[in-house]
Amino acid sequence: MRALVFRRHGGPEVLEPADLPDPQPAAGEVRIALRAAALNHLDIWVRGGLGADLPMPHIGGSDGAGIVEAVAPGVTSVAPGDRVMIAPGLSCGDCPECLAGRESRCPAFHILGVRTQGTYATHVVVPAANCLPLPPGMPFPEAASIPLVFLTAYHMLFTRGQLRPGETVHVPGCGSGVGTAAIQLAAAAGARVIAAGGGAEKCELAKKLGAWEALDSSSNKNIGDELRRLTGGRGADLVVDHIGGDHTASAAALCARGGRVVVCGATAGKQFTLPLRSLYVPEVSILGAYMGSRWELVEALRLIAQGKARPVIDRTFPLAQAADAQRRMEARQNIGKVVLIP
Ligand SMILES: [Zn+2]
Repeated sequence: MRALVFRRHGGPEVLEPADLPDPQPAAGEVRIALRAAALNHLDIWVRGGLGADLPMPHIGGSDGAGIVEAVAPGVTSVAPGDRVMIAPGLSCGDCPECLAGRESRCPAFHILGVRTQGTYATHVVVPAANCLPLPPGMPFPEAASIPLVFLTAYHMLFTRGQLRPGETVHVPGCGSGVGTAAIQLAAAAGARVIAAGGGAEKCELAKKLGAWEALDSSSNKNIGDELRRLTGGRGADLVVDHIGGDHTASAAALCARGGRVVVCGATAGKQFTLPLRSLYVPEVSILGAYMGSRWELVEALRLIAQGKARPVIDRTFPLAQAADAQRRMEARQNIGKVVLIP
């Protein structure tokens, strides 16, 4: 197979093409001929050294969609020729958390492409249980753009955030993959979404996706003041925070009484400080969210199949240009998902 690998950690320049033996499915696994792979910031962290002690060369990439090519003996849930997307969470399948459908809390939980070989390739091997059938007619680039961000957004909004109809949801970073997914899922659930993003183009997109209001964070206006004005001084019931750092502290200050900040990442910084009083007096909660479980992806996929949400694709690159694709994402030039075509 053909793959884009790195042999040492570093910048986008460490990515290089390689010809490797086709991976063989072990018991319970299938080999997929990939037709599209979508980028995530996670890929960039892994390339930079997040998963230290990786066997090299390593193939990154957690999101992919394609056609089942080979199945191990005994696999009956999928067959060669099936069009599938990959649920990127890998877990033991037997522990109490797995049995309860909370795979992302499995002690053995990991994400495809972090410690295992990922989707920046023509082929990948995954457990058969991680193959979800594509809705009829869904193109592969769209399918590849769904799993990680829609799973994360669904888990943040509903499972961790306990979103209820009529609540106000604040989605900063609205041009990102998680942002565009969260806006649509929250709006479909009857929430009022106030998005924020840098630039008119991102704000316009947020409104097209169902945001009630979109605030331009590159303008001189203070997002907090604007959000309070729009909510009559009340603030947001739920903040979808995929940015982290000091942003999480300011997100807590944007919450209404009883509000929740759900954090899924730390692209802007690993730590924040906060006066405790600003949490306990207004009873604001800060909740962590780590990916999600397969049933949540199935639920998100059902909403997508019903036309209530759709993945937003920024642009596609040939697999060989994965370094350029990652540079585009690192420079935050993308609006929506960046997709590789092998
Ligand atoms: Zn488990």
